[in-house]
Amino acid sequence: MLTTVTAGPYTVRGISVGGVYTSIAVPELGLLFDAGASPRSSCAIDTILLSHGHADHIGALPALLGIRGLVGKAKPPRVIMPAEIVADLGAALAALSRLQRFPLEIEAIGMSPGDELALRGDLTIRAVRTFHPVPSLGYVVVRHVAKLRHELHGAPGHEIAARRRAGEEINDIEDRLELAYATDTLVSALDHAPALLRARVLVVECTFLDERKTVEGARAGCHIHLDELVERADSFHNEHIVLMHFSQLYRPDEIAGILDARLPPALRKKVIPFVPAGTSWPG
Ligand SMILES: [Zn+2]
Ligand SMILES: [Zn+2]
Repeated sequence: MLTTVTAGPYTVRGISVGGVYTSIAVPELGLLFDAGASPRSSCAIDTILLSHGHADHIGALPALLGIRGLVGKAKPPRVIMPAEIVADLGAALAALSRLQRFPLEIEAIGMSPGDELALRGDLTIRAVRTFHPVPSLGYVVVRHVAKLRHELHGAPGHEIAARRRAGEEINDIEDRLELAYATDTLVSALDHAPALLRARVLVVECTFLDERKTVEGARAGCHIHLDELVERADSFHNEHIVLMHFSQLYRPDEIAGILDARLPPALRKKVIPFVPAGTSWPG
């Protein structure tokens, strides 16, 4: 049922079919992006980032919360989402809690484009603007890395230790854009948030791939067409690009071939299609 790909240091695991369900876990970061499905293995993750409120991205959140109860996760997960949907999602979960006779609790955190939220340790989430008919967000995971200040390079260890003891700041903090997630959006999200193009790993929707849907048709639904990524082929500074949220117009086993034929070779090398093995979509 689940697809797993490796993108640099990260495992990207879950399920994604455009308009049907999308939920993608990155276990090394302890993050789950969207909750359109509730695979058992995702339920232990304590931080969930919702892109927007469409059912294929949040529809399985109640099931996921219920399964957490089964596996003994007593603490509500932290659920990050566009600020505009916090109240409606809270009301929906309250109604579902009454139906269940079981509290479906979350720690809701609303974000707006440009907001940052510190996670555990050295990680921060940065929200970026995406463009969809409902309130939506993309997310960039930033790691703060301490690096010895340039002027101290080559200094003997005892001198660096002495400076540290004297209270001197010996490190600069460098922000590394580790992973970005953007789905259900016009391609212009990439132009407005260059961090998406510089993240080490970019997980991005590419709902439509060829003439079976026109670029205009894709834009009308606020989705990305492969032609629009080809136009920007030289802009991607990512090491790996995981394409997902493919339409059911395409069979999973034909997608790699379409990418081979249509993407410039330098971009194709970076692209990992998030598709299951075989000829049919999961479910
Ligand atoms: Zn979607
Ligand atoms: Zn949507």
